[in-house]
Amino acid sequence: MTAPAEKTNLLGLPKAKLEAFFETLGEKRFRAQQVLQWIHQRGVDDFDQMTNMSVALRERLKEIAEIRGPEVVYDETSKDGTRKWVMRMDNGNNVETVLIPDGERGTLCVSSQIGCSLDCTFCSTGKRGFNRNLTAAEIIGQVWVARKAFMPYEPSSRPITNVVMMGMGEPLLNFDNVVDAMNLMMEDLAYGISKRRVTLSTSGVVPALDRLGEVTDVSLAISLHAPNDELRNQLVPLNKKYPISELLAATRRYLARLPDKRKATIEYTVIQGVNDKLEHAKELAVVLKGLPCKINLIPFNPFPESDFERPSMNATRRFQNALTEAGYVTTVRTPRGDDIDAACGQLVGRVEDRTKRSQRYIAVQQVNP
Ligand code: SF4
Repeated sequence: MTAPAEKTNLLGLPKAKLEAFFETLGEKRFRAQQVLQWIHQRGVDDFDQMTNMSVALRERLKEIAEIRGPEVVYDETSKDGTRKWVMRMDNGNNVETVLIPDGERGTLCVSSQIGCSLDCTFCSTGKRGFNRNLTAAEIIGQVWVARKAFMPYEPSSRPITNVVMMGMGEPLLNFDNVVDAMNLMMEDLAYGISKRRVTLSTSGVVPALDRLGEVTDVSLAISLHAPNDELRNQLVPLNKKYPISELLAATRRYLARLPDKRKATIEYTVIQGVNDKLEHAKELAVVLKGLPCKINLIPFNPFPESDFERPSMNATRRFQNALTEAGYVTTVRTPRGDDIDAACGQLVGRVEDRTKRSQRYIAVQQVNP
């Protein structure tokens, strides 16, 4: 007996790929526009609800296609309004997605991989190792689930105004799927988020950054975390392959391609006694000279397996002031959602641990009823 053919998950297909899909069925390309709106704007996952298509086409779609998003295994809202989800993907892998509301703005932090291979020493995700890339459906599925959580809502109220590819994983190591998902974020028939409000954050995969500039013009964040190669080699091992000078040159090339005068965001995790000294701030100011950028300081958030500590607010402010005096717009990220979990990336560990514990408990129960 032959296994039934795998169904195509339409959730992850950007407009051009969805048009090609309908063309292979002998259908007009505008079907793609209708389906995009059903899936992404109305949150529909049932072909029977797509009433502007014939019954015959809907039946055909049911046979060969599906609309399948991640399963929510944890959903909690913090006192400050931060909402965190753990979403279970195919093969039972979990990823974390976070929505941070701030006035009119709602920023969704999306994951691109299960785990990460880059092993940055201050990162809880890196400590868990790499499992696999997420598919485009699994990446955009995080936006889809988050938006559906607010339905029905008035079209004028937009719970998600910004998306940052800053969750688990290095997005440039999952290039094609990330680009497809970002295209859906910006697609008017889907989420319609401006390219200025979709940000890809990278630790610096230089060749992929150059390639990115050829296919998209989303905003860019660089995870720098150190002002010199010696220190960055320790914090971000990828730096040994693509040192700071090459990374910043690629950042300049990317910004130069943009049609508008956008700045890159430089992410700098401030770690007590490691990279938080005044001389580090001064060195950073020199290294970034001439680069159109703003700097975001992130006080390190300790997690159980880490050897590092959070800097004092005084040390962080001193660091910020030095950069501000040097002429850089510098912000300090305030911790959000601390009452529902600790450091970014830890939630998955906690949920998985709880799941494993409950599985162990069930197993024990079966052996010792
Ligand atoms: S900081 Fe980003 S690139 Fe580095 S290990 Fe963590 S997830 Fe990977």
